[in-house]
Amino acid sequence: MKKLLSLFTTMVVLTMLLISAAYAGTGDVTITFWGESAFKLESGGKTILIDPWITGNPVCPVKVEDITAADLILVTHDHFDHVGDTIDIAKRTGATVVAVYETALKLQNNGLPPQNVLFGGFGRDIGGPIDINGISLVMTPAVHSSESGVPVGYIIKFPGGATVYHAGDTAIFGDMLIYGTLYPIDMALLPIGGAFTMDAVQAAESLKLLRPRKAIPMHYGTFPMLAPNADQFVTLAKKMAPGVGVTVLQPGEKYILQP
Ligand SMILES: [Zn+2]
Repeated sequence: MKKLLSLFTTMVVLTMLLISAAYAGTGDVTITFWGESAFKLESGGKTILIDPWITGNPVCPVKVEDITAADLILVTHDHFDHVGDTIDIAKRTGATVVAVYETALKLQNNGLPPQNVLFGGFGRDIGGPIDINGISLVMTPAVHSSESGVPVGYIIKFPGGATVYHAGDTAIFGDMLIYGTLYPIDMALLPIGGAFTMDAVQAAESLKLLRPRKAIPMHYGTFPMLAPNADQFVTLAKKMAPGVGVTVLQPGEKYILQP
């Protein structure tokens, strides 16, 4: 009887270990950087691409044909280094493209089928969260330019609990404080290259407004007029927002964000 009991106990413990192993890390978000503002976020079996500029991106280590799966593609504005390969990838993968209304129309005029655009072709606009299969998506303002509509950023809350902010191309702006308060940010993806966006100084200051747990710099090292690397941002961030964990990713590198 004692033997049976201990066998039973062992089996229960083993089963519990197996279950916990299967669920460990299900809330994690795997963040892959492809240079400029292009990212792949994977969590809970869903893949989100943001500003997938692959073809012609001088630092991107993957080819557009290598991208075979995407559920959502978030476009921040219509400049070539952000729209990138959106239309091609959406057509091949069946991904739903999210963009501001006028940019969504422009993409459709350039060949993106309406069924590949959020809400059957409408896209959305800056405002409150919408829910797409459990992913909560807030479109935020960005201080920049765009030929169609307005430039934007995105706050993405995954069902596993992690919240990622992709700022798009933007200068620093005071409302970052409001967004950081409304939607506590685990990871902020911030442009730091200057010339077209925040430079290292503005980006480091923006950490005080956004108050994210972690940050990854983007939009540098691709064009001669941008900062060649993230060194100055790393130094300033340490000084101005010492509580924020900054990680610099080389194009092609991944970071696993835990909620
Ligand atoms: Zn840009």
